[in-house]
Amino acid sequence: MSRTLLSLVVPCYNEEDALSTFFSQVVPALEAIDETDFEIVCINDGSKDGTLPLLVSIAETNARVRVIDLSRNFGKEAALSAGLAEARGDIVVPFDADLQDPPEVIARLVSKWREGFDVVLAKRSDRSSDSYLKRQSAMSFYRLHNKLADLKIPEDVGDFRLMTREVVDTLNALPESRRFMKGLFAWVGFRTAEVTYVRNSRVAGQTKFSGWKLWNFALEGITSFSTLPLRMWTYFGLFVAATSFVYAAYLVIRTLVRGIDVPGYASIFVSLLFFSGVQMIGIGVIGEYIGRIYIESKRRPLYVIRRRYGRDA
Ligand code: UDP
Ligand code: MG
Repeated sequence: MSRTLLSLVVPCYNEEDALSTFFSQVVPALEAIDETDFEIVCINDGSKDGTLPLLVSIAETNARVRVIDLSRNFGKEAALSAGLAEARGDIVVPFDADLQDPPEVIARLVSKWREGFDVVLAKRSDRSSDSYLKRQSAMSFYRLHNKLADLKIPEDVGDFRLMTREVVDTLNALPESRRFMKGLFAWVGFRTAEVTYVRNSRVAGQTKFSGWKLWNFALEGITSFSTLPLRMWTYFGLFVAATSFVYAAYLVIRTLVRGIDVPGYASIFVSLLFFSGVQMIGIGVIGEYIGRIYIESKRRPLYVIRRRYGRDA
């Protein structure tokens, strides 16, 4: 029986402090998995610190490590897409460089895969390593997203998961250039199983996702998979129009009964401000989607590879 090749896909952005611990823990964990060979595909996502030279030196001594150097920072979603496109394995596991996900879990994903699944999700059983605010905002995001979009994203599942070659090929063939990976992972479907684990804190360095970045990420997620924010305005407009008819009827009757009264400046002014605000929000939402159309229509590649290092480069 031929051995399975497992590709670990590791996006790295300014991770020089985490990398030596990373390799010292991940390599033994991968070696311990039965009947599999492995490759570690590191994507240097335009790091500004010593990440690249460190990765290259590791790739020189370890033939199972390959390095894909992107021409600048393209963001984690693009780095991950690059990694999935470069991975050669029969099974592929995206994995963060900061060791928040314990490497031992990979073996559990593999054994679940052997039971005959195409995708094995690694689900966080608790998020105590995240701050209260992050937990709450993540929870509200999943709730809102899953209410708005037809596609359900599994809660508390990150990019860490196992996918077979078929699943990865399907993902690679998706044409869109704005990639919300969590959503795309869910979109492709396939027979899916779950493994639960406890997520740790970062071994070194800082999170690359500030509150503002996460907020934009959430907007990206919702606008990627739902057009409900657009449709909402139709209903809102209908509601306002209907209400204004009722109000008009009230005004007519009042005028007939009580005659015309001129004052009304304040109410006109307030409703004017309110509805111009509402209209601008509506335009903003439409703009959000037009922006997406605009970016998709340019058909730019997702990322640019500067150079490959490692086996057969
Ligand atoms: N990352 C990346 N490009 C970026 C931001 C992050 O490749 O622009 C990588 C980062 O090096 C790490 C992974 O994505 O391996 C997850 O990032 P991080 O740990 O900062 O995110 P968090 O775990 O806080 O959500
Ligand atoms: Mg992290």
